[in-house]
Amino acid sequence: MDKRTINKLLKLAEEARSYSYSPYSHYGVGAALLTKNGKIYQGCNIENASFTPTICAERTAFFKAVYDGERAFSAIAVIGTGDLPAFPCGVCRQVMAEFCDADFVIITANRDLSTVVVKTLDEMLPERFGPKDLL
Ligand SMILES: [Zn+2]
Repeated sequence: MDKRTINKLLKLAEEARSYSYSPYSHYGVGAALLTKNGKIYQGCNIENASFTPTICAERTAFFKAVYDGERAFSAIAVIGTGDLPAFPCGVCRQVMAEFCDADFVIITANRDLSTVVVKTLDEMLPERFGPKDLL
């Protein structure tokens, strides 16, 4: 993935982070999801007082895109408010496994973009369970 696309996605993830609803953890996260046909869907984390209904930024972006009929994705950028890059949680990685190929690109960054890590879904979730196991 070219540097220009990575930077564009990180910028949009940073913008999405400003919409985070995270009054409990104070850990805001933004995501920018790139479809294979060039559309970009943004998402933020949305917390809840009873915690279980809380949703991550990555899944917010994916579910917005899937609702719009998108099923093919190229990359996602995720940025948090911590000192360390905001790696997707296990649940979000499993959602990626549902819709993405092994070479799907996952870009993660810390608060000020001083650390950026680029990996594939295959590196983030090897030996994954997915549609191929049921279809
Ligand atoms: Zn997650």
